[in-house]
Amino acid sequence: MPSCRTLALVIRSVEVFETSLVVTLFTRELGKASALAKGARRLKSSFQGGLDLLSVSDVVVLTRGSDSLDLLTESAPIERFSAPRTSLAALYTGFHIAELLADLTDDHDPHPRLFDAARVSLRHCGDADARKRRLARFELFCLRELGLLPTLDMCTQCGREIKIVGDLVAFGLASGGVLCHECRPGVSHVVLITPEELDAIRVLSSPGDGWRSLEESSAASVAARRTIGLVLSHVMGKRPRFRPLVGV
Ligand SMILES: [Zn+2]
Repeated sequence: MPSCRTLALVIRSVEVFETSLVVTLFTRELGKASALAKGARRLKSSFQGGLDLLSVSDVVVLTRGSDSLDLLTESAPIERFSAPRTSLAALYTGFHIAELLADLTDDHDPHPRLFDAARVSLRHCGDADARKRRLARFELFCLRELGLLPTLDMCTQCGREIKIVGDLVAFGLASGGVLCHECRPGVSHVVLITPEELDAIRVLSSPGDGWRSLEESSAASVAARRTIGLVLSHVMGKRPRFRPLVGV
């Protein structure tokens, strides 16, 4: 059985049998993995308390075939995030990040940059002044890493640059981004967004610090986060459970 030592974020944990756990890990080197941690609930186990939900651990995973659970043989705590222990909004933010990783990534499909981004987001989820913008940035980064980021400059149908005609821009949830005036008729699941909102989504999805000048409570910022939520619901095939509780 091949083994892999990697950093892992614990995104789900279920008690099984008398003393064991089945944990879903989002690992840096291996991607998502569901693993049996035998005896993890015993007082003295080889996991040293390294399996707390929403914490980062150094783990060793024995990988098995696609039909069976992997086996966790070692786990040691590396980083515990303080904010989710003291703030309910931060806790829901952490649960939402875990839900995105669990639902949108595939088993054994590594995305180390997404792992790093999740870790940074969890470090900062106690920052009440910027929590919603930071979360929206993580959501857009996640979509980008997985090849699901909506197109924001070129028409998704014909590839032409979008020229804003009138007050609103057509944004196709199913077609994957903005639509030009000619291509819009006949496309389903279209929402209309303002140019300011489109700019806000562009700013939130861009690297660098530009997002800091976008006000958390401005109309464009609020609308952008709502549209990002619609995109997530579309790609997940359901409404994210914890996002409304963050008040995004
Ligand atoms: Zn077009």
